[in-house]
Amino acid sequence: MLEVIAGGCRCGAVRYTVDRATLPAAYACHCTDCQTWSGSSFTTQFFMPADALHVTGAATDYAFVNPTGRVSTQRFCPTCHTRLYNSNAARPHLVNIRAGTLDDSARIRVPLHIWVRSKQPWVILPDDAELWQEAASVEALERLSGMDSV
Ligand SMILES: [Zn+2]
Ligand SMILES: [Zn+2]
Repeated sequence: MLEVIAGGCRCGAVRYTVDRATLPAAYACHCTDCQTWSGSSFTTQFFMPADALHVTGAATDYAFVNPTGRVSTQRFCPTCHTRLYNSNAARPHLVNIRAGTLDDSARIRVPLHIWVRSKQPWVILPDDAELWQEAASVEALERLSGMDSV
């Protein structure tokens, strides 16, 4: 039997499931924008084919042009404002899901960290983690998408 990978916002108004047999590996972003978005020290997220994500409830969009000139569209719960996932015009076939919104987020494995140069100094990363001082290459992120979390 396939496991059901599901998640949602804090209040439960927006829920999602993902069509995949196993949970993919995630990456952490320590950039200052992610620190602002999350009100915390870093974000964790994983890529998924856009057609594998099924959302119930009406998410709100926030689109903006990022520094590379591409439109990034963020999806939030309109009630509790949890940021659930985003897409980017540079890779319209993928969505980037916030790993902390998974019902079972404890299973997420995070082997890759980006924007390490702006991480909080008290965040200690594992010795075997793949570190990028700024953005990771497309190849590194594609390799990550093919890996599974435990
Ligand atoms: Zn909500
Ligand atoms: Zn970031």
